Amino acid sequence: RIVYLKDYRQTDFIIESVDLVFELGEELTTVGSQIRMKRRPGASPDAPLEFVGDGLQLAGLALDGKPLLPERYECTSDHLTINDLPADDAFTLTIKTNINPTANTQLLGLYRTNGVYSTQCEAEGFRRITYFYDRPDVLTVYTVTIIADKAKNPLLLSNGNLVEERDLGDGRHLAKWHDPFRKPSYLFALVAGDLAMIEDRFTTMSGRAVTLRIYVEHGKAERAGYAMDALKRSMKWDEERFGREYDLDIFMIVAVSDFNMGAMENKGLNIFNDRLILADPETATDDDYARIEAVVAHEYFHNWTGNRITCRDWFQLSLKEGLTVFREHEFSADQRSRPVVRVDEVKFLRAHQFPEDGGPLAHPVRPTQYMEIDNFYTTTVYEKGSEVSRMIATLLGEDGFRKGLDLFFDRHDGGAVTIEDYLKCFEDATGRDLSHFALWYHQAGTPVIAARSSYDAAEGRLELTLSQHTPPTPGENDKKPLYIPLRVGLISPNGDDMEPSAVSGGERTGDVLHLTESEQTFVFEGLGAKPTISLNRDFSAPVRVRFDQPREDRLKIAGAESDLVERWDAINGLALEVLTHATAAVRAGRSVDTDSALASILIETAEDGELEPAFRALALTLPSELDIGREIGEDVDPDAIHLARKAVFSAIANSGRASFARLVEELREDNGFSPEAGSAGRRALRNAALAYLAEAEKSPLPARQAYDAATNMTDMIAALRILAHQFPGSAETSAVLADFRQRFDGEPLVLDKWFTAQATVPGEATLDRVAELMGDAAFDEGNPNRVRALIGAFASSNPTGFNRPDGAGYRFFANFILATDPRNATLTARMMTAMRSFQSLEAGRREKARAEIERIAGQEDLSRNLRDIVNRMLKS
Ligand code: ZN
Repeated sequence: RIVYLKDYRQTDFIIESVDLVFELGEELTTVGSQIRMKRRPGASPDAPLEFVGDGLQLAGLALDGKPLLPERYECTSDHLTINDLPADDAFTLTIKTNINPTANTQLLGLYRTNGVYSTQCEAEGFRRITYFYDRPDVLTVYTVTIIADKAKNPLLLSNGNLVEERDLGDGRHLAKWHDPFRKPSYLFALVAGDLAMIEDRFTTMSGRAVTLRIYVEHGKAERAGYAMDALKRSMKWDEERFGREYDLDIFMIVAVSDFNMGAMENKGLNIFNDRLILADPETATDDDYARIEAVVAHEYFHNWTGNRITCRDWFQLSLKEGLTVFREHEFSADQRSRPVVRVDEVKFLRAHQFPEDGGPLAHPVRPTQYMEIDNFYTTTVYEKGSEVSRMIATLLGEDGFRKGLDLFFDRHDGGAVTIEDYLKCFEDATGRDLSHFALWYHQAGTPVIAARSSYDAAEGRLELTLSQHTPPTPGENDKKPLYIPLRVGLISPNGDDMEPSAVSGGERTGDVLHLTESEQTFVFEGLGAKPTISLNRDFSAPVRVRFDQPREDRLKIAGAESDLVERWDAINGLALEVLTHATAAVRAGRSVDTDSALASILIETAEDGELEPAFRALALTLPSELDIGREIGEDVDPDAIHLARKAVFSAIANSGRASFARLVEELREDNGFSPEAGSAGRRALRNAALAYLAEAEKSPLPARQAYDAATNMTDMIAALRILAHQFPGSAETSAVLADFRQRFDGEPLVLDKWFTAQATVPGEATLDRVAELMGDAAFDEGNPNRVRALIGAFASSNPTGFNRPDGAGYRFFANFILATDPRNATLTARMMTAMRSFQSLEAGRREKARAEIERIAGQEDLSRNLRDIVNRMLKS
């Protein structure tokens, strides 16, 4: 069954309101649904009502209070069709279903784990609760009554405002919630259980008092403080930056420990994976704090971009996700260091989205067909979608973007709309034609921009020729030129930005060149000296740039570019070049040239007190083995990459030994812990230096000492990782791994870091260790966080271990996927994408990988999610 965008049509009936009554039972929950509805004006008078379900059991069906005779309807576990409904008059349908929340291991719909009932309905989970129009364009008002055992479930939550609470006298109690905002079913949520809570208040810009609550497991309440702080900052920021105000009297977040994704923006009741809420210095790293801040903001921002305005159909997913990621990125940039945040985004995009866009699972930001929508919650829809909104902002300027977005909120509040509706707002607000630009939504693949330049010294004229080309993606061979905003800096010999007297060859606004054709030559006049050209400043477009620039220019950008994103990129590019050459040397049996220029630039940057520590840490960190493999792109040999990187790392460590020792000494933090970005940056720099120092000293002792002295999880896990990865098998490593395991017994989120640190140790031996760790008492194959921390990390972040030449890594992984697929298909399909780039491996590994993917594809009972992924992976 494939769903096509072109088949979209409205429902035949309109839903005015829905009343849900849940009688919660661990193995039997009954759901009563009373739906006020009528035929849509203009719909055929005899069209039947067609609702969807998923694995449901019907327990009752009535029309206007009278049981429906069997000949009036057809019902299966996934479908309910009712005939002969009134042509004009409104009517009330009552549907009863029985569901089993405890048996629901898919974690979609209503499920109970760890003693807590919770829901996940996006995208198509509501149909696992009751028969309904489970689609985003059907908006209605929900009233939800929850009845449950009071001792076990003192807490009964749903969307909106609490309107009634009552004891039923039989050990049960009841709570009734009403959400005045019309919403689609995917935003429905229910939580029941026994949880701890922290509360705070926020007064909106118009003076509305809002109660804020975060619910977590008992004993973890103090760990919710940072998330609460992030929530208040998000609310304030959205008012100031985008004029968006919160709209209910209460905003709740619930942290649950078994959750497939990161978090979910249910109206007024966000539900989170607990790893994205819980933080304190002893258990969370600086990266955890940053993720928590970003995701709390992301889900909150959805209240406007997603909930008040939602998607007409799931093909429009990026309408809410791309825009909300962009808003989240801007928030992080304002809360932290803008260039450092931007570099992290660039790294993420290149590490995840570019390979998706260049591999068998490539799809446009707005796809036109899907087999399983869950498989389209991708980095393309999210992160590339965000980059597309960022490019709109770049083209229109901050004011133009704000005007367009204001119009969007104004025009479409309460609506379920399309990406065309979104773009039209920017066009109408600014008068700018975005029809060519819109291709970014419809064409898959990462454009490659090739640049060449020539300078005429006598005339002071620079010619810059830019050409663009997008490689073919599955099902799409002919690519058209895109509308690409490219920020270009011209740097004078003394390091300042130069401003030409005139530019021709295409539109230029500020420092942005509008590249619209397959090839264009921009001519810059009136330059006093030959400039160094800096392309794609601030990563203004999500493209690859191929520019054969003289090495001196690249070194200049790496050493002095005022745009720090470009500066980092130049440093990173130099490192990638050295590392790919070193890999080629290893494979050819030659000795590795470790390049002293690279070492100098890394060490100088790390020591440059004018730069913020977080940036220096980014510069000092070599590209990962995965980064190098992606740069090489084909015939990849992970073992050669590993050896080459080790040689280069070691050479840098030796030549910078004194500097690294100094940095480790100077950056000792004495004034207690703060999660704030500046302190985090100092820790990042110190720990990056510590890895080099340990390598230079060829001794586990500096890391062992750092572990013992650590007062926070960032330093602790950094030391542990250095030991596990650089000194595997040493006595210090074993001691520290054992100490950590015992110290954090009963802290599953912390032990996830321990699992991951070990699953990512390079080399063949790790597979056996991973298998052994599956037997650890803290490992739980039903918990997505545990599974991802151990098996997910092994498959996606351990190139030498997973890609063992004998194929045992693939076999182990495929066995796990097959065993887990019946239990949780969202999880297995997502994890399977770790193998999507198997075609870029050298032939021996590639064929062994392919054989395992084929073995999976050959099974009969795969979930639709996994079937879709493996089929697409094998097709191209
Ligand atoms: Zn989202």
